[in-house]
Amino acid sequence: MSVDIDCVVVGAGVIGLAIAREMAQAGNEVLVIEAGEAIGIGTSSRNSEVIHAGIYYPPGSLKARLCVEGRHALYAYCASHGVSTRRTGKLIVATTDAQVSQLQLLLQRGLENGVDDLRLLDRAQALALEPALQCITALYSPSTGIVDSHALMLALLGDAEAAGTSIAFHAPLLSACVTADGFLLSVGGESPMTLSCRRLINAAGLHAPALARRIEGLSPDTVPLDYMCKGSYFSLAKRVPFSHLIYPAPDADGLGVHMTVDLGGQARFGPDTEWVKIEDYQVNPARSDGFYSAIRSYWPDLPDGSLQPSYSGIRPKISAPGEPASDFVISSQQQHNVPGLINLFGIESPGLTSCLAIARHVSEIIENH
Ligand SMILES: Cc1cc2nc3c(=O)[nH]c(=O)nc-3n(C[C@H](O)[C@H](O)[C@H](O)COP(=O)(O)OP(=O)(O)OC[C@H]3O[C@@H](n4cnc5c(N)ncnc54)[C@H](O)[C@@H]3O)c2cc1C
Repeated sequence: MSVDIDCVVVGAGVIGLAIAREMAQAGNEVLVIEAGEAIGIGTSSRNSEVIHAGIYYPPGSLKARLCVEGRHALYAYCASHGVSTRRTGKLIVATTDAQVSQLQLLLQRGLENGVDDLRLLDRAQALALEPALQCITALYSPSTGIVDSHALMLALLGDAEAAGTSIAFHAPLLSACVTADGFLLSVGGESPMTLSCRRLINAAGLHAPALARRIEGLSPDTVPLDYMCKGSYFSLAKRVPFSHLIYPAPDADGLGVHMTVDLGGQARFGPDTEWVKIEDYQVNPARSDGFYSAIRSYWPDLPDGSLQPSYSGIRPKISAPGEPASDFVISSQQQHNVPGLINLFGIESPGLTSCLAIARHVSEIIENH
C-alpha cells in the first residue's frame, strides 16, 4: 500500500489546529479532517475563554505542566499574531471558614505548579480591589486572563496553512485500520474517500474515545470510558461591578459558577455541572435558580431576574461522576503499541490555555520515535 499523506489530524478544534500547525512547521505534510462545516464548532467555541494560570491541578500532572507552559506560550503567541487577550487577573474567593483553608491549599498547589505570582488577600485587601464582593479572604492570580478563542483558532489555522497544511470540512473519519506502514482511513461525508497515512492524530474532542474504538488494530483496553458533563452559562445584560474574573472556591464537581467577561465586556456566569447522555447544547432556563444562589454567595447584590440563558459546553470527561477529575491522556505507542498513532483523551479545561504546549508535547513524542 502506498502512503498518501504523512500525517492526518482528526478534528479542527483548538487542539487539532495547534497540533497541525506544529507538525506542519516541523516539515510534515499534514491534512486536517473535520466532521463539521468550519473550525472550532465543538468545545473550543463553548467555553469560558479563560487563560488559566495553572493553580488547580495536581503537581506533576500533565494538566499542571502544560497549563503553565501553555499560558506563557499563549500570551506570547497572541501578542505576536494580533489575537486579543487581556490579563484581567482573577480572585478566587472564600465565603465560608472551610473555604479559607481550601484557598491556602490552592496557594501551595499553585506555587508547586510554578505559578509564582499568587497572593492571599484578607477581606479588606480583596474589597479594595472589588468593593461589590462578599468574602472572608481571596486568592489573587494576576496572570489569569481572557482570550478571543475564535481569533486564536483562525491564527493557528493561518499558520498551519502557510506551512502547507490542507483542511477538509464535512469529512468525518468513520473508521480506521492499522496497516503495515500506517493507517487506512475511511472518511465519510459529502465526498467519501479512503486515505492512507503514516501518522494519525485523534484530536476529536468529545468523540475521541468513540473514534479510537473504531480503529481496528488498537486494543480497546487502551481507550478510557468516556462521559459527558454539560456546563451551562447565563449572561447578564448590564455591566457587572467587577474588573477581575471572580471564582468561588472550587467544589467536588469543578471550578464552580464563576464570573467572566468576554473581550467585548459581556459578563457571563457558569459553567454549572450536569452529567448528560446526549450531546444537546440547549440551556434550560430553569437552571437559573442554582445560578442565583451560587453567585449571591460572593455577589449578594445580583439583581432578581437579571440572568439570561446564554450557551453551554460539554466537558469531555474520562472520569465518572463522583471520581476525581482525571489528567489529560495523550496516548502514544508507548501506551498502546501502535506506531504513529496519538489519541488525545479527556482534553477538558485547561485545554484552551494549554493548546500550544499540548501541540509541542505531541510533536516531541513523534520526534522521539
Ligand atoms: C464548559 C467548558 C468551559 C471551559 N473553559 C475553559 C477555559 O476557560 N479555559 C481553558 O483553558 N479551557 C476551557 N475549557 C476546555 C477547552 O474548551 C477544551 O479543552 C478545548 O476546547 C478542547 O479542544 P479540542 O480541539 O480537543 O475539542 P473540540 O473543540 O471539541 O474539537 C474537536 C473537533 O473534532 C471534530 N470531530 C469529532 N469527531 C470527528 C470525526 N470522527 N471526524 C472528524 N472530525 C471529528 C468535531 O467536529 C470538533 O470540531 C472548557 C471546556 C468546557 C466544556
